[in-house]
Formats: sequence, structure tokens, C-alpha cells
Amino acid sequence: MSNVMPVDSAEMGETLRERVREVRARIAAAAERAGRAADDVALVAVSKTVSAEIVRVAYEAGLHVFGENRVQEAQRKITVLQLAGVRWELIGHLQTNKAAQAAELFARVQSVDSLRLAEALSARAGQLGRNMPVLLEVNVAREPSKSGFDPGALIEAARAIAALPNLRPEGLMTVAPLVEHAEAVRPVFRRLHGLRDELRRAVPSGTAGGWAQLSMGMTDDFEVAIEEGATIVRIGRALFGERPKV
Ligand SMILES: *Cc1c(COP(=O)(O)O)cnc(C)c1O
Repeated sequence: MSNVMPVDSAEMGETLRERVREVRARIAAAAERAGRAADDVALVAVSKTVSAEIVRVAYEAGLHVFGENRVQEAQRKITVLQLAGVRWELIGHLQTNKAAQAAELFARVQSVDSLRLAEALSARAGQLGRNMPVLLEVNVAREPSKSGFDPGALIEAARAIAALPNLRPEGLMTVAPLVEHAEAVRPVFRRLHGLRDELRRAVPSGTAGGWAQLSMGMTDDFEVAIEEGATIVRIGRALFGERPKV
């Protein structure tokens, strides 16, 4: 795919505005197919590997929630950009020794994948006087390469996490397996939705509408995810173009 960002910043702005429009239209169409409202689905623009300069242009193009997968990289951008009214969310695996920093930087951590990490986040959030919103990541397809709770261990972990004093568990997140056709991961999204419903019954959470959020769907599969109930989609490449191969 040759959808790299133009270097000229006016052109970059035009490209981004167009892509934001396209992505929002696709979100709205998928929501409508599922009989849902378009504003039931929040868009997180995944800006990992994207330069601070491009993030600024994206902000001006109307994107105000950014997802990052590394604490250091996010911290650099947050510090350099100082954008008013922006939310930064962590979507990548977080080491427990960086939990304190994450609690300071992010509006929400979507990738809580162990009780130990949750405890560390809660401890720091308490010192900061905040009640930190989090999602629990679930490795629905049980892929060895992925982090996230095993579906069989989720309820027990959720119960312990919901009891922590300074976290506000808002729902679940998953990264579906890489497949050729998005349709193939529909059962994964459906399963996460089912787990969420189970969780709601088993573990009442203090949050209004407890466990309401389902963060699922990326560039290649977000429409299927929305049809299966996603309330948050995390989209990188459809907005910013292909990432450099590492
Ligand atoms: C990179 C990433 C995304 C975005 O992926 P795209 O395919 O670029 O849309 C979403 N979620 C997580 C957890 C990611 O690491």
C-alpha cells in the first residue's frame, strides 16, 4: 500500500482531513448496519511511530484521542506537543516498572494484562489523587505471541482488579489475530462481547454502566468489530498510512 503521508504540511493536513472523513463515514456506516448510533463508537487514532509533527497536523484535522504503545515514545510527544483537550491512551503492553509513569501520562490504559500491573497503576493513581480508567486486555484467541488475560482467567482477575481503590475498570480490549479477511475474526469479537456480558453479571463495577467499553477493531477489521458491538476502535494505518517495517 502506498499511502504514506505527504511531507508538505498543507498537503498533509488535506490528506488527514480526507482520511478522517473517510474513516468516520465507514464507522457510521458499520454502526448503522448494526442498528447503532455512530457516536456510540469512539475513534482512537493510533499514532505509534508517527512523528509529533504529524500528530499536530492530525489534531488540527480534528483527531483528539491518540493511542500509543510505548511509554517513552508517548512521553516525548506529549511533552513536545502540549495539545489542549487531547486524550492520550496507552494501548500496548506495559511493564510493571513503568506503571507509575503511565499513570501520570495517560488518560486511560487499555492494556492492563495482569493483576500486578493493575496494582502498580492503582498505587500510583492513588498518590496522584486520581481514579484511573482502565480496560482489561483479553487474549481471546490465546495466541502465545500476545499479551492479555486468558479468557478462562478473566473473571477472577477482574474481580480482584475491580476491588483496587484507585482504578476504574471500564471494559475490555482485544487485538484480534492477523487474518487475510476480516470476516474470519468476527467470532473473536463476538467472544469478547460475550465475555463482557458475563463479566457484567459476575463482577459489578462501580463505574456508571460498568464494563461498558469494548475496545476492538483496527484498520483491517474495525467494521466487523463495530457490527459485533465495539464502542472503541483503534485505527492507525487508515489514518496515517503504512508504518515503517521494523
Ligand atoms: C498498532 C495498533 C493498532 C492500530 O493498528 P492499525 O492496523 O494500524 O489500525 C491498534 N491497536 C493496537 C493495540 C496496536 O498495537
